[in-house]
Amino acid sequence: MFVNLTRKSLLAVFFSSLVFTAFAEDKKDDAKKDDEKDKETLTQILEKKDAFDGFVNIYRDKEDGSGLVVFDESQLNKPFLYFVSTVDGAVAAGTFRGQFRGSRLIEFRRNYDRIEIISTTPRFYFDPENAVSKASDANISEAVLVSTKIEHEEDGKIAISLSDLFANEDLHKVSPTPSDNPEAEKRRFKPGKLSKDKTSISEIKNFPENTHVVVRYVYENSTPKVDGGDEVSDPRYTTLHIQHAFIKAPENNFKPRRDDARIGYFSQQFDDLTSDQTANYRDVINRWDLQKKNPGAEVSDPVKPITWWIENTTPLEWRDTIKNATLAWNSAFEKAGISNAIEVKVQPDDATWSSDDVRYNVLRWTSSPRPPFGGYGPSISHPLTGQIIGSDIMLEYSFMKGRWIAGEMFTDGYASLSNSLQGDERMNCSLGHELNLGMMFGQYAGMADGMGKIEEEKLLRQSMAYLILHEVGHTLGLNHNMMASQLHGHEEAHDDSITKGILAGSVMDYPSVNYAPVGKEQGDFYTEKPGPYDDWAILYGYSEALADPEQEEKRLTAILSRSAEPELAFGNDADDMRSVGRHVDPRINIFDMSGEAVDYAQDRFELIKHMAGKLKDKTLVDGRSHNDLTVGVNVLFGEFARQASVVSRYIGGVYLNRAFVGQPGYTQPLTPVPEDEQQKAMNTLMNFVFAPDAIDEMSPLFAFIQRQRRGFSGWGRDESPRLHDMLLGAQKNVLDHVTHPNVLIRLTDTTLYGNTFTAEKMMSRLTDAMFKADIKGDVNSYRRNLQVEYVDRLIKMSGLEKDSGYDNFAQASAMYELGRIADMVERSRGDQATKIHKAFLKDRIERVFYKG
Ligand SMILES: [Zn+2]
Repeated sequence: MFVNLTRKSLLAVFFSSLVFTAFAEDKKDDAKKDDEKDKETLTQILEKKDAFDGFVNIYRDKEDGSGLVVFDESQLNKPFLYFVSTVDGAVAAGTFRGQFRGSRLIEFRRNYDRIEIISTTPRFYFDPENAVSKASDANISEAVLVSTKIEHEEDGKIAISLSDLFANEDLHKVSPTPSDNPEAEKRRFKPGKLSKDKTSISEIKNFPENTHVVVRYVYENSTPKVDGGDEVSDPRYTTLHIQHAFIKAPENNFKPRRDDARIGYFSQQFDDLTSDQTANYRDVINRWDLQKKNPGAEVSDPVKPITWWIENTTPLEWRDTIKNATLAWNSAFEKAGISNAIEVKVQPDDATWSSDDVRYNVLRWTSSPRPPFGGYGPSISHPLTGQIIGSDIMLEYSFMKGRWIAGEMFTDGYASLSNSLQGDERMNCSLGHELNLGMMFGQYAGMADGMGKIEEEKLLRQSMAYLILHEVGHTLGLNHNMMASQLHGHEEAHDDSITKGILAGSVMDYPSVNYAPVGKEQGDFYTEKPGPYDDWAILYGYSEALADPEQEEKRLTAILSRSAEPELAFGNDADDMRSVGRHVDPRINIFDMSGEAVDYAQDRFELIKHMAGKLKDKTLVDGRSHNDLTVGVNVLFGEFARQASVVSRYIGGVYLNRAFVGQPGYTQPLTPVPEDEQQKAMNTLMNFVFAPDAIDEMSPLFAFIQRQRRGFSGWGRDESPRLHDMLLGAQKNVLDHVTHPNVLIRLTDTTLYGNTFTAEKMMSRLTDAMFKADIKGDVNSYRRNLQVEYVDRLIKMSGLEKDSGYDNFAQASAMYELGRIADMVERSRGDQATKIHKAFLKDRIERVFYKG
């Protein structure tokens, strides 16, 4: 082969050998350096780095930023808490500041020359007395989250690479999970793939009992099809700051308390695999370790109170309201035998500690471009015992400013953001957002009524107090109680000599703002004290345990056996009816108020009409644009839609009772809503939502709906407000519920245990509500729009055109109603548009009937 060598290739060989030699020299140098490096002790290596001492020590190179996590051998094989949250996110990417992302118990373990981070599910319990417990690890898989080489080891100190541990998604999956719904998936902003080069450790914060590492995750998507809104600077690159926290597991004699179906605490769930019960739950509630200083005393201060710090960024004028609302919880604790359970301090302006230190519980403030919530109270709790270790509450500045969230305008035909809240969001608290809507309604109602300064301040103060009470309630372990607003009758709710600052059984609800109906005096806008349910829940969660387990169980059972008392009514997000077709008990809902929510809604519809009549005069001010009026119409209409949705849930509803058999006040768990209540709901919808004159009072406003122009933001937008879409949107939301397959089959199912408002009756009344009022005269454009929508729905339900997902009874009903409508529109009366409309409906129905 050498024979064929050319000059050129010889040269190539020559050069490559040169290169090789040079490379070999380099290698030797490297090996020498490595030798020297190996000789360096860990202490010497660490001396050259910046030290972050704390729960787990971290060292960082001054030049290249590379880091080492150094822990003690004694920290191996010991469970500690791992907690993940978002420091800064992008709402479009599904994560936002302060968002709690998960917690688990993890352990560092050695595997020869590697360190592994192991997470074991604590979900399953085995009675140690039971022989089966010997097989307790059967089919329960441990997760090896991380496996990384030990970099250095010396005198019981073990060093591993900081970036191997954190600068990836091994410990925690950060990138958003694709949606199951293909339509939603299409519309979802996709940050793309994690960029290893751009992802880095951005901050290390170390404290005696917790270590925080903030990682800047950068995702790349070269061809994003959906942009992430104004807060994503460039949709090709999304930056998310995620905080990983290692937290020392508390060492104390904390006694877990069992959870119960009748009360609403956040909990840690365990299945007893050695139990023979059908409900083999051993769940424990999340609660603070609040022990009496004088055990056995009827009332005693705690050994250590729960201390809340008001962040020093809090506006001075709000501090007293915030402090008083937080301390208001003490009344509930006092009834449970603990005095001064909560204390409130203000973070000094020169404080050297950080709110990240787990030893400080802080009420914090943020201001996001697109606030996803107005207050949010995550707490860190022990996955085995439920002990709450620390908590912060994030509050949004926008809450106080009443900033209207753009893109939520009803006049553009968009649905309300709050109507679409579901799924993952159940873990988050969107109360601030809901309160914001309520507050704005109150402000506009006040504007229309010429509300005085004192009342206006009361509205602001009570809504802030409610927000704080509610968020602090979360941090005490309580989840939502969406049934609590049932406490008073609809008249009593407005009488503050009866309510005395307590409008609901609990502060853990999302109530409607309690604005006085037309001609009534204003009472409390919002609850400002814990209610009877809250007192009861705190009694259950925090009263002192008895030493004897049997006696203790009796004591807890006695507290729980009060659950059927009306003021202790409870139902959380899992049962609430905010979404169409979901769940059964209309009393468990958001935006409703009083035990007579339908009557309450009627008053509210009247108030909206009254306000609409005054809005133009009050909002059009010399020298200003029409923005206030535009927002006002949206506020009014938003409230109209919310109350319509509240009323609709009573149709086909079932009242739930979670009382245990034999306890006082026990009734059967399922009771259909009585027919007269369902009929009343139907009448209300007919008179206020579907009526030909449903929004007549708003008509004088229509020609004045105009947003204030800004740059080119109106590009491509149709400036004529979508008035028919606006009303039909709210009407469709009601129809979506009352003609939902779940509701229709329930109307028939429940006839087997007491319901007399049958699916057939309901459908017939619905048809009447759509057609009766104007069948003999002119049908206005709103009603024509609604009637076409309704007939289309009936055709879908009937299964005449396409297979229907509806039950057989509903299909028969739909067909029957189509026949009735065909008869009703047979006689051509009214103006030209009405005649055309009726001819169209008649033809539409006949084509389906005769497939012509
Ligand atoms: Zn909440």
